Amino acid sequence: MIHGEIHQNVRQYINGRWETSATTGVSANPSDTSEVVAEYARADRRQVESAIRAAADAFSHWSHSTPQRRADVLDRIGTELLARKDELGLLLAREVGKTLPEAVAEAARAGQVFKFFAGEALRGGGENMASLRAGVQVDVTREPVGVAGLITPWNSPLAVPATKIAPALAHGNCVVFKPAELVPACGWTLAEIISRAALPAGVFNLVMGSGREAGQALVDSPLVDALSFTGSARNGERILQAAAARRAKVQLEMGGKNALVVLADADIDHAVDCAVQGAYFSNGQRCTASSRLIVEAAVHDAFVSRLRERLKALKIGHALERGVDVGPLVDEERLARSLAWVGIAREEGAEHVWGGEPLQRATAGHYMSPALFLAQPGHRIAREEIFGPLACVLRAADYDEALALCNDTPSGLSAGICTNSLKHAMHFRRHAEVGMTMVNLPTAGVDFHAPFGGRKGSGYGPREQGRHAAEFYTTVKTGYMLA
Ligand code: NAP
Repeated sequence: MIHGEIHQNVRQYINGRWETSATTGVSANPSDTSEVVAEYARADRRQVESAIRAAADAFSHWSHSTPQRRADVLDRIGTELLARKDELGLLLAREVGKTLPEAVAEAARAGQVFKFFAGEALRGGGENMASLRAGVQVDVTREPVGVAGLITPWNSPLAVPATKIAPALAHGNCVVFKPAELVPACGWTLAEIISRAALPAGVFNLVMGSGREAGQALVDSPLVDALSFTGSARNGERILQAAAARRAKVQLEMGGKNALVVLADADIDHAVDCAVQGAYFSNGQRCTASSRLIVEAAVHDAFVSRLRERLKALKIGHALERGVDVGPLVDEERLARSLAWVGIAREEGAEHVWGGEPLQRATAGHYMSPALFLAQPGHRIAREEIFGPLACVLRAADYDEALALCNDTPSGLSAGICTNSLKHAMHFRRHAEVGMTMVNLPTAGVDFHAPFGGRKGSGYGPREQGRHAAEFYTTVKTGYMLA
C-alpha cells in the first residue's frame, strides 16, 4: 500500500491567523502504523485562552451580521466540503481507519450539514403570541448565546464537528473548536476550509491539544458561554460539574449501551443485517453501536447461528482496500482495551461464539476479528460501553422481557426492534427509554437533520441537529409592546 501525503502544516487557527505551538505531536494511520498522517502543533492553555478572547471580541460584530451574510458563509463551506468529499474521505480513512465508502459518506454529510444550516440562518425562528392585554403585542426572538466551546471525539472527525460548528455560526455565535488529538489532520482541514469562507477574524478558532490541557482550558474559561461536548460519559460528567458551577450552557452527547431487540416474528436475515451493521461496522466505535442483541427465545439459536456465519465472512483489513467491510481500530490503546473486554467476557462466564482475536494483515495495523458472546444480563459486557467490535446476545422469553432488558441500563441513546408486529413496534417506540428508536433498522445510522441525542446517562441538555439545534445555540428573549 502506498503511503499518502504527510500533513506538516497542521497548526492552530486563532483570531484569523495560523499559529504554531511549542510542542508538537503526530497522528498515524491505524491501517498501517508506519505511515504518518499529520505532524501537528499542540495548543497550550495560553493559546486556548487567546482563542477564547478573540472569539469574545468578535462576538458583537458577528452576532449583528445579517442572516444573509451568515447563510453565504455556511453555503460556501458546504459547497467546498461536498466538492472535496473524495479527498476528505481519503484523509478520514487514513487517520481513523473507517472504510473509504463510510469515510466519503461522512465527508459528504459534513457538507450537507453546513448547507442545511445556511438555510436555518435565514429562517430565524421567532414567534408571535397573543397578549392578555388589549393593544399589547408579544413576540419571542432568539439571540445568539456568545462564545461556543466545541469539544469533539475522534470517531466521526468531520460530521460531529460540522454538527456543532454549523449551527453555532448560523445562529450568530463565535466558535472555539477543539478536535480530539487523534485526528488533527481532519480537524485542521475542516478549519482550513472554514478559514477560506470570508469570516471576520476571531469568529472561528481552532485549538488542537489534549483534552486535559486545551479542553480543560475551554471548560474553565468564564468567557465561554456555551459548551457542547461529545465524548465519554466520564469526561462529560466532569465537564458538567465545572460548567454548571459557572452557569455556562452545557450540551453533552455521550456513550450508549444500545440494544437491538429481535422478536420471533422478525425477518431473521434482515435482523442479522441490522445487527452486523449496528454492532460491527466502524468496529463498533460508534456511540449508537448495538452492543446488546436481545433475542426472543424462539429464534435465539437460529439468529446466533446466522450471525456467526456473517461474522466469519466479514473482510477485515486496510481501510483503503477494495471490498473491506471493517478496517482497524483507531489506535493501539483501543485495540488493547477491546481485547481486554474479550478476556473479561471469558472470565465472567459468557459463552464465546466467534472472534475476538488480534489479526495480522499485510500492513501493521490495529486489527481484530469481530467478537460475539452469549451473555447474562448481569455481565459487564452486557452493561458497560465497550466502543469496540464486541457484541453480546441476551435471551428473552418474550417481548415484555426483551423490553425490560432493553431499558435495564444507565444509558439511553438509541434502541432498535426487528419485528413484523405493528403492535409491538408501536409499544416499543413509546416505552424504550432512549432518545432515538429504530424499527427494522440498525441502532446506528441517523439523518443529519433530525434531532439527535440520548436520555439517562447518554445525554444532557438540548438535542443536536436540525432545527432543534437552535435550543442550544440561541437564548430566548420575550418582547412586549403597546402599539
Ligand atoms: P473522550 O475521551 O471523552 O474525548 C472526547 C473529547 O473530549 C476529546 O476531544 C478529548 O480530547 C476531550 N477531553 C478529554 N478530557 C477532557 C477534559 N478534561 N476537558 C475537556 N475536554 C476533554 O471520548 P473519546 O474516546 O474521544 O470518544 C468516545 C466516546 O464518545 C464514547 O463514549 C462514545 O460513545 C462517545 N460518542 C458519543 C457520541 C454522541 O453523539 N452521543 C458520538 C460519538 C462518540 P483528547 O482526546 O484530545 O484528549
